[in-house]
Amino acid sequence: MHRISHWIDGKVVEGTSGRSGVVFDPATGLQQASVDLASVADVDVAVAVALAAFPAWRATNLSRRAEVMFHMRELVDANRKEIATLLTKEHGKVLGDALGEVARGLENIEFACGVPNLMKGGYSEQASTGIDVYSIKQPLGVVAGITPFNFPAMVPMWMFANALACGNTFVLKPSEKDPSASMFIGELLKQAGLPDGAFNVINGDKVAVDRLLEHPDVQAISFVGSTPIARYIYETGTKNGKRVQALGGAKNHMLVLADADLDMAADAAVSAAYGSAGERCMAISVVLASEAIADDLVAKIQERIPAIKVGPASEDGSEMGPLITGEHRDKVKGYVEGAAGEGATLVVDGTVGVPATGFFLNPSLIDNVTPGMKCYDDEIFGPVLTVSRVHGYDDGVALINSNQYGNGTAIFTRDGGAARQFEFDVQVGMVGVNVPVPVPVSYYSFGGWKNSLFGDTHIYGPEGINFYTRTKVVTKRWPDPRTSKVDLGFPQNR
Ligand code: NAD
Repeated sequence: MHRISHWIDGKVVEGTSGRSGVVFDPATGLQQASVDLASVADVDVAVAVALAAFPAWRATNLSRRAEVMFHMRELVDANRKEIATLLTKEHGKVLGDALGEVARGLENIEFACGVPNLMKGGYSEQASTGIDVYSIKQPLGVVAGITPFNFPAMVPMWMFANALACGNTFVLKPSEKDPSASMFIGELLKQAGLPDGAFNVINGDKVAVDRLLEHPDVQAISFVGSTPIARYIYETGTKNGKRVQALGGAKNHMLVLADADLDMAADAAVSAAYGSAGERCMAISVVLASEAIADDLVAKIQERIPAIKVGPASEDGSEMGPLITGEHRDKVKGYVEGAAGEGATLVVDGTVGVPATGFFLNPSLIDNVTPGMKCYDDEIFGPVLTVSRVHGYDDGVALINSNQYGNGTAIFTRDGGAARQFEFDVQVGMVGVNVPVPVPVSYYSFGGWKNSLFGDTHIYGPEGINFYTRTKVVTKRWPDPRTSKVDLGFPQNR
């Protein structure tokens, strides 16, 4: 059985805990590898190595740090297919989708190549007579990233690229369900010229996470995962004095107004709901259909579903792969099976006719869903699209704003005024206008509102640079010593 260990100090290091997790091939349902689950001692070694690497990396000049990022950019670009193949093997997403993940992750490395510009401070000459004031951004030290199973390459790239470029050293704890992409990233960063110890991967579960949360040498934690764990990470990390950004789950609504192009809206809903088997935090999981067009829209979504080719990534033409584990597949299935009993209408039942092996489900469509039903209230995180009927704009926005999540949302309309009002009214962090999956480009920042993000800063982009640096303000003068005198008054400028 293939064994996946840790990446510490520029090499593969076997764990000492004696504990391991199972890495499945979701397309067959069979175990394909075991992954070491770190002990507290293993985490301590990784943090100690990162701490030891920090002074030299921090002192490495900006041009050189940018050069390492440029090399990394070239290496990820050259290895797109290799990384994507690791994703399809362990996560199950189809190759085209996996290549898309790598491409969007790569944009974050490209952004970090601009670190000399991004780390510029401000300068005020003659703030007071003969006195200049300026601000500088400095790295924090050892920072950690804890990442989910659904984007095993892109989400780590959201974090380590900016963190390292800013001069921090990094400990990554990827999802134990699909850890190989992170290990490969470790190798690539070494090839890119990053000094050993500056980037480490510690595989593990709650034991490793809890040690990172309490470790006195870890200055900051970036987390992406489900809401209950995000809340726990934020509360525990901040209690231990760390800077924390913890991104949680989602329930993304797409509001379709009566004037929308219904074919375009149906295409968008199907793509955004079932892409990556719905295991995207920016997937559309609820369509809010204005009454006047609801029947037509549901019919158009329904007629598109049979054309979706569900199958393993290895099979030509597959568009939607399996879910991550059998346990998760069964949980998702439960929402579909329970929907009719709650009063909803099961329009397309994705639990029937699924491939015999692997963790597959077909796409499901559930109509007449209302708050209070489990399939509305919970984040399902699978290929299940629900439709709630609304009277119109006000009703739709009220539903979105009363939801506990606020990650992404979209409006489909041809009315520019309504779209602009939506941007103004909606209490959600990322908004699409006729764009169903509005993941911000790397030079903006990604983050939701409400229970989709705990902490003050969004991830990557300019807010990522702020998260991974702290500001120091210097007030400086070079006076003529002959003018020096004792003055106990508070310094004033006028
Ligand atoms: P998860 O919360 O189960 O796991 C995320 C990470 O936390 C993993 O590394 C895991 O090992 C660790 N973890 C799990 N349980 C823990 C515990 N009890 N204590 C400490 N650490 C623990 O999430 P997942 O199932 O891997 O990913 C899917 C979730 O992530 C969905 O809810 C999805 O919406 C969310 N997500 C959010 C975003 C975003 O940007 N907001 C992006 C991707 C995924």
